[in-house]
Amino acid sequence: MRQRMVAGNWKLNGSKELTRSLLAGITTGLHDDVSADVVVCPPFVYLEQAAAALADSCVKLGAQNVCAETSGAFTGEISADMLREVGCQYVIVGHSERRSLYAESDNLVARKFVAARDSGLTPILCVGETLNERERGVTEQVIARQLQEVISLAGAETVASAVIAYEPVWAIGSGLTATPDQAQAVHAFMRERLRDSGAKADACCMLYGGSVKPSNAAELFSMPDIDGGLIGGASLVVGDFLAICRAA
Ligand code: PGA
Repeated sequence: MRQRMVAGNWKLNGSKELTRSLLAGITTGLHDDVSADVVVCPPFVYLEQAAAALADSCVKLGAQNVCAETSGAFTGEISADMLREVGCQYVIVGHSERRSLYAESDNLVARKFVAARDSGLTPILCVGETLNERERGVTEQVIARQLQEVISLAGAETVASAVIAYEPVWAIGSGLTATPDQAQAVHAFMRERLRDSGAKADACCMLYGGSVKPSNAAELFSMPDIDGGLIGGASLVVGDFLAICRAA
């Protein structure tokens, strides 16, 4: 049995007050009906506050981005060691918003993945195709290319021991969700790629992300290769996030 996981990606949302109230709501609302690992990824500046708020809970902390470099003249960047020091166990790398809005290449994403791993963080590696790519029928090529760059740099076994999130770009924040069958097909494909690369792919935790809501979570998470979700919008609403955690 693979470990199930629900991770909340707060994106550019939050304040000290929102961090306090969201985490209070999540920690008091989580009971033993949730067996999935629960991770929250607030903006950098609230990580330390979040770590303190989560100190006595089973909820884990992640960041939304990391620098591929370890230290030096990289103004504005945050290193993996810094994230570890303030209490992070996870970090999202290669989110499609970073790839498209901040021009992060497959290679940069792979280097971030390695930097995270080298510091002992577990990367949550995001991959996914755009609507245009899906319509052109190149979804698998795109996913294979995004995965391959990381496999080449980090090794297949290292990738399989991280978390991979399949997030079709057209489903993120759009209200459009991939159907369970569409998501399952890509998850099965990713597992096959890892297996073909020599990794123990059956153990790899794979999340689906893109407009996951309480109303569609259970069906998505019931698919054989979907082990949980990476949640954007719904992670900012305590009741919705808890319902999704329960569904996993
Ligand atoms: P969404 O975002 O749940 O708001 O679609 C998911 C994500 O970008 O990780």
